[in-house]
Amino acid sequence: MNIAVWLERNAKLHADEPAIGLGHRVVASYRELAAAVAGLAHALHEEGRLRPGDRVALIAKNDAAYLEALFAVWWAGLVAVPINAKLHPSEIDWILDHAGVRAAFVSADLEGDVGHGSATEPRVVSLSGAAYQRWRSSAPVPLVPRDGIDPAWLFYTSGTTGRPKGAVLTHSNLIAMSMSHLIDVDPTKRGDAFIHAAPLSHGSGMLALPHLLAGGVNVIPESGAFHPEEVLALAGSWPGASTFLAPTMVRRLVDCPEDTPAGFRTIIWGGAPMLVADVVRAVDRFGPHLAQIYGQGESPMTITALRRNEIGDQSHPDWRARLATAGTQRSVVDVRIATADGRSAAIDELGEVLVRGGTVMLGYWDNADATRSAIQGGWLHTGDLGCLNQDGYLTLLDRKKDLVISGGSNIYPREVEEVIAAHPGVEEVSVIGRPDPEWGEVVVAYVVGTAEPAELDRHCVDRIARFKRPRDYVLLDELPKNNYGKVLKTELRAMDAMNADVRPADARQR
Ligand code: AMP
Repeated sequence: MNIAVWLERNAKLHADEPAIGLGHRVVASYRELAAAVAGLAHALHEEGRLRPGDRVALIAKNDAAYLEALFAVWWAGLVAVPINAKLHPSEIDWILDHAGVRAAFVSADLEGDVGHGSATEPRVVSLSGAAYQRWRSSAPVPLVPRDGIDPAWLFYTSGTTGRPKGAVLTHSNLIAMSMSHLIDVDPTKRGDAFIHAAPLSHGSGMLALPHLLAGGVNVIPESGAFHPEEVLALAGSWPGASTFLAPTMVRRLVDCPEDTPAGFRTIIWGGAPMLVADVVRAVDRFGPHLAQIYGQGESPMTITALRRNEIGDQSHPDWRARLATAGTQRSVVDVRIATADGRSAAIDELGEVLVRGGTVMLGYWDNADATRSAIQGGWLHTGDLGCLNQDGYLTLLDRKKDLVISGGSNIYPREVEEVIAAHPGVEEVSVIGRPDPEWGEVVVAYVVGTAEPAELDRHCVDRIARFKRPRDYVLLDELPKNNYGKVLKTELRAMDAMNADVRPADARQR
């Protein structure tokens, strides 16, 4: 089934109900959205000369037209390739070539930048240009049927190591993701709003789908980006508003002055760990309206979830312990932990998180080797380390590649980060391993805040095993993060290596 069928059905059943909002106003009903989408699909076939299965990129900041174009791609039987608009033009060109993209919808400011270095020379259409307006007013074409197994979305991973890989997500994958979201994370009814403040090319765009299925309103902030005051104001005016944010964004929302009464249905966070102290502050501020999801591009938005009632139920004896977990497996997948020698881990035993089920990608686009190592015997190897407790709650430690091995001992950066972050003079912290001739690696903490290294060292001595203590603290004004709010540890490691020559000798030896 083609996922765009949901739009076709809503346009019949709830034609005049709001489908898309921009800022505080409705800009399209379901009837209007379907008409624009079916017109765009016509133009993609005729003017774009595209045939079912061809790839179309979306490289744009959040915009109402983004969602129209995304659905038009599916309506026309094509495959969407949403690309992070903040990538360097040469990185974008690499993805365009790798995916064999034939047309690209872009923001006006990118129109001149995209595709020049790409061998496939895609047709570039600005979402605010005259051609786009003409396309969306074309005569509608009927929806092109697709099988569940047909690719719908090529999700290019952030590519922190080597070239990005394109996870092939099928229509069935997106359908399973949407079902699970509505059942496990955020039950949604007609008219409920979803505020897209995080980039549509990633998780927020995915969550437009369950909201469309449920007949909700997908709302784009006027700014097209994340501004905490704007999100609070939108949540105050749209009924039943949910949103999806990275943990750093949730923190900024919590830090906003309380003068705007914001009634959230659910604030969903994911994509990176959130410190327990930050979750508690968020619950204090917003009440039982938070949910956490854990997923990755290869099993989008869907591996485990910590549900709203679990985060909100402060009277539960395991409340705090559960806040430190990523919750339990989602209804459409199996999750298991595998040890290094491939056996299933015992309860509380650490290993790699594996997942199989309806949301797991078909494979990587044009990369059979990477597919073979990622999916073995039907199980997706996530590269995340974690353990399951006896109730099935998953504790995530770190990415396998972020683990620090010092003097033969495994040190999990996240554990050290939790301890350092509890110091009142620390705003943010990220811990990495630094190559060391004696120890193999030593622990180094990059810290944003006012605390002095000596204080932090005392703080750690009092709280964690000596071998886990950072050997060096580096103070920064901000941590390097990607567009989705994830700390870029690869960049930190590169910075750390570059500064090796100028580092004082005592810092190396402490
Ligand atoms: P991406 O494919 O870019 O969405 O990145 C997915 C990765 O982000 C996962 O493999 C995890 O390492 C991390 N991640 C996602 N959600 C969470 C979460 N709730 N808690 C901790 N880490 C997460």
